[in-house]
Amino acid sequence: MAAVPERDLVVVGAGAAGSWAAWRAAAAGVPDVLLLEKTPRLGTKILASGGSRCNLTTTLGPDDAGRLFRDKGARFLRRAFRGLPPLEVRELFDELGVATEEAPLEKVFPSSGSAREVRDALQSAVLAAGVELRTGAAVERFVELASEVSGTSADPWASAKAARAPSTNAEEVADRSAARFELHLATGDVLRCRRLVLASGGRSYASTGTTGDGYGWLESLGLEVTPTLPALVPLASPAAWVHDLSGIALQGAESRLLDQRGKEVARRERPLLFTHAGLSGPGPMDLSVHVAKEVHERGGPVCWSLKVDPFPTIDRDQLRDILVAGAGRGGAPRLLRILTDGLAPLLRVAGLEPIPKRLLAAFLAQAGLAEDAGHQSLGRAKRHELIEALKGLEVPISGTLGFDQAEVTTGGLALRHVDSGSCRVRGHPGLFVIGELLDLDGPIGGLNFQSAFATAEACAKALVQGAT
Ligand SMILES: Cc1cc2nc3c(=O)[nH]c(=O)nc-3n(C[C@H](O)[C@H](O)[C@H](O)COP(=O)(O)OP(=O)(O)OC[C@H]3O[C@@H](n4cnc5c(N)ncnc54)[C@H](O)[C@@H]3O)c2cc1C
Repeated sequence: MAAVPERDLVVVGAGAAGSWAAWRAAAAGVPDVLLLEKTPRLGTKILASGGSRCNLTTTLGPDDAGRLFRDKGARFLRRAFRGLPPLEVRELFDELGVATEEAPLEKVFPSSGSAREVRDALQSAVLAAGVELRTGAAVERFVELASEVSGTSADPWASAKAARAPSTNAEEVADRSAARFELHLATGDVLRCRRLVLASGGRSYASTGTTGDGYGWLESLGLEVTPTLPALVPLASPAAWVHDLSGIALQGAESRLLDQRGKEVARRERPLLFTHAGLSGPGPMDLSVHVAKEVHERGGPVCWSLKVDPFPTIDRDQLRDILVAGAGRGGAPRLLRILTDGLAPLLRVAGLEPIPKRLLAAFLAQAGLAEDAGHQSLGRAKRHELIEALKGLEVPISGTLGFDQAEVTTGGLALRHVDSGSCRVRGHPGLFVIGELLDLDGPIGGLNFQSAFATAEACAKALVQGAT
């Protein structure tokens, strides 16, 4: 029987994290690195990222960036982000020939505006470091050889077989203690390795190769995988009036997510876009993780809402002044006209676009006023209602648009299993997990690549130091 090929280090998944780890480990002297990728190319998701511009990191410092990953994520990422701060990601890309530039909302893009440039640079670095890159090489399953004898395995059939026929061949057992993992590829190839890095990503945008393969492998090792749900995903609204506003964008909006009792769950000041299905844009998408979790817990649609303040810098007194001054105008001005004229200079000062009439009409409707209502219909109580509507348009939310439109997956390998300094999986010598496969997800703004690169860097450093 032909001998099974053996490697020192195999990295599964040539996405952001896997490519970075393979490059950095090999460049620092780890020999014999094999990088396996299911799709025909390295960095398939990088190419699709940031609207093909790839928002590759953030302008935030390491601690501020880490805090955006909520409590558990922030604690886990503290070491990794300090080990590879966002600024260093930029410096390293600069060394690879990718100049970067800052953009609003703490984003960093390649100056060329090309995700392909980022992907190509990473690929060149991987190859120049001597990594063997095999594309079109999907790993179907792997067996943890060291514990196969004791009966635990990522492959239940292999465990069962081992339990039925425990090896008595001393040579084979010795060989297995050198190579700890046996990988089975969809091509039928089998290979073994001493150290295995899993970087197969999440389960969003499955067309980019991320079909959640890693979760099952980890669960069959007896490790906890927290529920994997879509995040950074547009929100669904059941309200037809919301769909009718499709195409309207609010650059400076503040969105507050309220549960069915009206209690605030979270808030975010980021652009927002009305769509034919509900709400999209960074604000709603950043908040979507909470909606996805509630949908998961309830097992169906939710009755939440997003309260949208289109101009957080314009306060209630200013709105009152506009309405009072408008009422004093000659003729019988309509409220729509009063608001359009009154808001224009304030929005200009705030650097915001005018509010389209269609949207202003929705604010009026929320206050129980007709689109063509004149200022006479505005008694004191109604004026108060209109001001409250203008500071908080309540958009009903029933759920998210799911994995097909999610930029990341929330949930994954429970962080308690992983050493945050090395991304080594506790109790499984030689096994490392990095990137989105971990229970980590951050908001829009280059933070998820930052997390992929930083966990990969921590892992690469540990591999260089000989960690198993
Ligand atoms: C449309 C879109 C836009 C995005 N834009 C941004 C952005 O601008 N900035 C940002 O920070 N984040 C962005 N993200 C999120 C970011 O792309 C991910 O968080 C990041 O790529 C995660 O890195 P990763 O290496 O863990 O996983 P991935 O980059 O997803 O890589 C995982 C790789 O593993 C491979 N793989 C999976 N299973 C197997 C298997 N069985 N065998 C072999 N290989 C396998 C996959 O094909 C894939 O190439 C975006 C995501 C999407 C979907």
